[in-house]
Amino acid sequence: QDPRGHGQHDMRPQQPPGGSFGLKTVRSPNDKYTFSNLCAVHSSNIPPSRDGSDLYLLIKGKYVLSALPTNDPKLEPGTIGLSDPQRTWMQAAVNDVLDVQPYDPFSQGARSYLGNMDVEVGFAGRKTPSDPYDQDELAQAFVHTFRNQIFAPGQQAMMDFKSVPLRMTVRTVELVDIASLNAAGGGEQMTSPQARGIITPETSINFFKDAKSQINLRGSNRRPAANSVIRPDFKFEDMGIGGLDKEFSDIFRRAFASRIFPPGLAEKIGIQHVRGILLYGPPGTGKTLIARQIGKMLNAREPKVINGPEVLNKYVGQSEENIRKLFADAEKEQKEKGDESGLHIIIFDELDAVCKQRGSGAGGGTGVGDSVVNQLLSKLDGVEQLNNILLIGMTNRKDMIDEALLRSGRLEVHMEISLPDEGGRAQILKIHTTKMRENGKMARDVDIQELAKLTRNFSGAEISGLVKSASSFALQRHIKGGTVAALSDDINEMQITMADFLGALEE
Ligand code: ADP
Repeated sequence: QDPRGHGQHDMRPQQPPGGSFGLKTVRSPNDKYTFSNLCAVHSSNIPPSRDGSDLYLLIKGKYVLSALPTNDPKLEPGTIGLSDPQRTWMQAAVNDVLDVQPYDPFSQGARSYLGNMDVEVGFAGRKTPSDPYDQDELAQAFVHTFRNQIFAPGQQAMMDFKSVPLRMTVRTVELVDIASLNAAGGGEQMTSPQARGIITPETSINFFKDAKSQINLRGSNRRPAANSVIRPDFKFEDMGIGGLDKEFSDIFRRAFASRIFPPGLAEKIGIQHVRGILLYGPPGTGKTLIARQIGKMLNAREPKVINGPEVLNKYVGQSEENIRKLFADAEKEQKEKGDESGLHIIIFDELDAVCKQRGSGAGGGTGVGDSVVNQLLSKLDGVEQLNNILLIGMTNRKDMIDEALLRSGRLEVHMEISLPDEGGRAQILKIHTTKMRENGKMARDVDIQELAKLTRNFSGAEISGLVKSASSFALQRHIKGGTVAALSDDINEMQITMADFLGALEE
């Protein structure tokens, strides 16, 4: 068991005492840092971490780099190794002492949004080749150079492209509302001056000429699917899930923090991406909502969903076949693309159904449960291990889940989703009454806070049911009796009142 208590990894960044500290600038100790946003630091103020969420540095209060803590003998203690472009970018000279501070992009909770960036390109030096630059190539170089770096509008960055130094100025960072994301990667877009984005390999960048240096651009901009962007004021409630902000941001950090790192970096630090999550707690509390939301946030593709009893109810041999199918796409992509494969999310509802009979002759003595669990194990960290999957298991009974499945490297992050407290219930009530409020169908006397008090021990699903039932009470008032029931003429004035809610509560 985890010494921290819940069998969960604590992935909060460890803040060193004193906040910021000085590090002496030296040249990068190694070529591999030259064209990336990765810097090497040798400092006891930056503890090595397992998950990487504390591995961003805020330098001079302004520039963000991802950092690789090292005790490379080429770096003296108390130094930060920066490449030429990095030093130019942050206007630092060798031997300067820089103000450095660990930086946690997730400190305000979870807020991953997706989007595009508009970037102005100009020559940083005097050299002005007349050949036009191919935008696809430029975008590739940009992503390669700044992968994982956080950008905000107005920010400048230097990069070398075909040995010519370029100055990149971010015009806008465009965010796509994750809640509205569709399978094709589209969704409602918005721009905000506060938006900050993390560059990922999928980031789509639109280039513009910088007015001064008149660079020539050719080719169309690439518009790939999804890139992760951080929005400062994101609330989970905005996605229609109430009362679970804390749970969500915890899980988001644990399951997602390592995912924003390039695969190479994760390996260097010895991080294993989380490949499995277990959500457990009473029914109707939003586990499915969260699982689907995580799926959307990590990957625009639709998650695959399967449920335990359904797996077991099939003919002999069919259960194994179902599981095999579930992983087939991930397997195929891993074979073809290796590390570059996209992430496949698999949601396994009622996972306990395939576990509880393990070892005691599952599925009525056929051993089906055993082989299903074994198959899951082999995909997670066994002979057929897949590195491109995130398995989200769900159950109302954590005690029924096979211990073997819960070990590190398997469904290692466990998150309890419990019944909402009063604040959570108020949020859920608001979410489920959004439509009627927006359309003026909710009477003024409806007191959400009071209803939140009265719905003790209600799950999210039950609150949703209560709202529906209140609506039917209101509708009842507009049904005229007689031989044939008909709606009264004032049906358009129908409003749902506090009395309707109280009536629904009595039911
Ligand atoms: P679970 O998977 O935990 O059994 P679901 O996620 O399927 O529960 O929830 C069922 C329905 O109940 C949801 O579709 C939603 O309408 C409502 N619901 C449950 N929890 C919440 C919540 N925290 N916020 C908003 N709605 C919720």
